[in-house]
Amino acid sequence: MGDPASARFYISTSEYLNIGLSVKSAMTEISYQKLQRVPAWGLASEAMCYIYSPTDEFDVRKVFRLARRQGLSVGFRGAGQSYGDAALNGEALLLDLSGMQRILDWNPENGIVIVEPGVTIEQLWRKIISSGWWPPVVPGTMKPTLGGCAAMNIHGKNHWNLGSFGDHVLAFSALLPGGDIVHCSPTEHSELFYGILGSFGMLGCFLSLTLQMKRAESGAVRVSAFTAPTIDSMLELIDIHKEDDYVVGWVDCMSDGLRLGRGVVHMANHLLSSESDANVVLDEYSKHELPSVLFGVLPRGWVWRLIRLLNHRPGWKLINSIRYYIGLWRNGHTFIQSLPQFNFLLDYVPDWRRVFLPGGFIQYQCFVPKAKAADAFAAVLRRCRERGFCAHLGVIKRHRSDDFLVSCNLDGFSLALDFRVSERNRPRLATLAKELDEIVLSVEGRFYFAKDSTLHPEAARAFLGPDTISQLANLKMRCDPHGLLQNNLSRRLLPELHVPLLVEEHVNRD
Ligand SMILES: Cc1cc2nc3c(=O)[nH]c(=O)nc-3n(C[C@H](O)[C@H](O)[C@H](O)COP(=O)(O)OP(=O)(O)OC[C@H]3O[C@@H](n4cnc5c(N)ncnc54)[C@H](O)[C@@H]3O)c2cc1C
Repeated sequence: MGDPASARFYISTSEYLNIGLSVKSAMTEISYQKLQRVPAWGLASEAMCYIYSPTDEFDVRKVFRLARRQGLSVGFRGAGQSYGDAALNGEALLLDLSGMQRILDWNPENGIVIVEPGVTIEQLWRKIISSGWWPPVVPGTMKPTLGGCAAMNIHGKNHWNLGSFGDHVLAFSALLPGGDIVHCSPTEHSELFYGILGSFGMLGCFLSLTLQMKRAESGAVRVSAFTAPTIDSMLELIDIHKEDDYVVGWVDCMSDGLRLGRGVVHMANHLLSSESDANVVLDEYSKHELPSVLFGVLPRGWVWRLIRLLNHRPGWKLINSIRYYIGLWRNGHTFIQSLPQFNFLLDYVPDWRRVFLPGGFIQYQCFVPKAKAADAFAAVLRRCRERGFCAHLGVIKRHRSDDFLVSCNLDGFSLALDFRVSERNRPRLATLAKELDEIVLSVEGRFYFAKDSTLHPEAARAFLGPDTISQLANLKMRCDPHGLLQNNLSRRLLPELHVPLLVEEHVNRD
């Protein structure tokens, strides 16, 4: 691999370790005990970071001061559920904010909750569901923290309808590296509000978030599943159902020719508790749990080991075909699921990412305007096949545009593709990703930093555009003039955001 930028998603541990040790030897106050190997969620990359675990605002302040005295950068980490390098800060400080996990206030009358940033989606829904409320925007797993969701401005299977996480943030407070706390809402410091939400921890650390929850009286949805024999019919079906409460398409990426992009679309709508078949009753807490066994017999914890046996091309072809033909056989099938069961499908199989060890996997997610989506996605899927890759999982969602400064969102569709990584395929995968970027950029598409592992600075700049980058750089100067806040993703994609770090000896010790 000649190109260092494309090689970054698989930099080896020993390289990090060597750098980490040399950094350590230059330091007087940062303990070697804090140096830990931290993996990206997809396990395809990792970094050696000095981990600090604050439990309150004062701990965060101390780490900011320590970093300035040592001339080191600070990155943030919530639950570490970003697929790539967004929550890594190699050879520098990494603040693990998952310990700031108090729900500060919950009002079941109006559905407004105030939380610390380390509260997880899981903690939140468990707290509110019995009063008939649900978080309006959730990802495909319940593990992320709300600080991480705000920093990436995540979306769910209802993006067209309800927008992204930031659309339900009523206010937040954030600690800036210089020590000031800013309180922001859509009307108070609105430039910071729309800038900090989504800017991957580059401007400040969320200390608290005030969120509006959504009414969900039964805690359940009625789900319908329809097969789509081609990519065009898949996008059409998703678009027709975009006003449903949720809609998502699964793509069989192993299919080709006339069946390219075939799959199954699931749409779901909240069930009223008055509906007679609402078999998930509000107070029946256990009904909200994911099943402990799959297919009636298989303990959930074992499933990844079985899938691992099929972790090769014929195996994935078999899994995808079975899934498609079951969908075809049960076309139009309707069933009831609890909200956690419907939304957190990926949590059904604990540890599923271990299927892909030792190389791990990456996700490639691109966002494309509606009118260009069918052709662009067909071109993406075809290019994968031409280069000898088939994603083992493909997912399509409908999106709308928004007002956040750093945003992947547009009026169109996203396609997310999961690729297994191995020592052998890494260079070819990096080349493929670059080719896919060109297809996406040629139709004015966008990318999502929470999932990214392979993008190059040129592609990031092309999709964000000079105005956004200059606005972000201005906010960075305003909020973080010493350039303290960094992470591996920011250094990989937007190095121009960072000024050289200086050791500031005058900074107080306590
Ligand atoms: C199985 C799976 C399914 C997923 N499905 C979806 C999906 O459907 N939709 C979607 O949008 N995403 C999805 N994601 C991605 C995930 O929602 C995001 O990566 C989210 O940001 C993870 O939150 P986290 O707490 O783990 O944050 P981390 O991954 O730990 O951190 C993410 C970013 O947040 C910043 N950050 C964290 N805490 C703070 C804070 N207190 N203040 C400032 N910055 C902070 C960090 O700097 C970092 O850049 C999925 C991830 C997984 C593993």
